[in-house]
Amino acid sequence: MRLATLTVCFFALGYPLACASEPATDEATRFTRAQKREFQGLDYAREGKWSKPFFFLQLADTQYGFFTQNQGFQKEITLVNRAIQHVNRLKPRFIIVCGDLTHAIPSDPRYTAQVRQFKADFSKVSKDIPLVCVCGNHDIGNQPDPVLISSYRKHFGDDYFGFWVGGVRCLVLNSSVIKDSKSAPDVLAQQEEWFKTMLRQAQQAQAQHILVFQHHPWFLKTEDEPEEYFNLPVARRLSALTAMKQYNVRAIFAGHYHRNSYGKAGNVEMITSGPVGRPLGKDPSGFRVVKVYRDRLEHKYYPFDAVPTQIQLSDSQRTAPAVPNSKDVRVATLPSPAKTRRAAAGISRRWQRPIPASTSTAVANPSSR
Ligand SMILES: [Zn+2]
Repeated sequence: MRLATLTVCFFALGYPLACASEPATDEATRFTRAQKREFQGLDYAREGKWSKPFFFLQLADTQYGFFTQNQGFQKEITLVNRAIQHVNRLKPRFIIVCGDLTHAIPSDPRYTAQVRQFKADFSKVSKDIPLVCVCGNHDIGNQPDPVLISSYRKHFGDDYFGFWVGGVRCLVLNSSVIKDSKSAPDVLAQQEEWFKTMLRQAQQAQAQHILVFQHHPWFLKTEDEPEEYFNLPVARRLSALTAMKQYNVRAIFAGHYHRNSYGKAGNVEMITSGPVGRPLGKDPSGFRVVKVYRDRLEHKYYPFDAVPTQIQLSDSQRTAPAVPNSKDVRVATLPSPAKTRRAAAGISRRWQRPIPASTSTAVANPSSR
């Protein structure tokens, strides 16, 4: 296995920065598998049918540079490597990093070193474990524009896309453009149309579950809470949640809050997970284990000190949700097939439209959290 060589160098301003060489080409491509709105290798032909329960890991906010405000990222290196040791031991079906991958945005001269370090560290993830990256506000700016989005796509592939895993349809959104679309209105419009089309197609393809991944939570606790820094605008939120309820989205996974939070919109779980990197609350650095069963999800956030040696999957089907003891342990069951069919029959006709050609372009600014 060819791993990037870690070296220590000094940035021009004189403070130390850990720098890494670019991963070898075959390893570098693992970071750009999201192309043409799909994740290469995790497509319907290979992964469209349910076979058995599995688990995956959701990570968020590695945010290289946040501990020191871009003066270095040694703490992030240490935490990410702890995460990767767990990943390679547990062998999840896939891992997904729900942004912010770095603290510097692409227009910052310190961005390149942080991206290199991210790739050097995550190249250590076993090659048979797909790595899915999601863009956060630090990855494309608080006001994304075409240049920033284009830079992100060069390093990490598409900013929004879908993939299939074991019969489960997963949809990844660019939440920064939902938060602020002033410099990228076309991107927002194209993503909205794409998302609704993907929801419809997932249902037609009889996805066992539909899961959504993004950086900003739509909401932290209640679907009608006022907008603030850590959630998304109310009007766009309610419109999207209406769609996700209609199409029986099982759960939405997000980061950005640097703490855990949880809420439900109808049957749709809104799961906000704490950071791999710098915490902003009482939840220590860690990641979330998500078990996917035919009839339910189970998920729990683990600080790195408390990650189990292995993940056990039950073969049994539950007819009623277990009542978790911890607020961070959640179980959700599927509605009955009859209920699903009734819901499908009620879907608005306005969403039965073809997929438009989708591109991304638009303008932006730095961010601080
Ligand atoms: Zn963020």
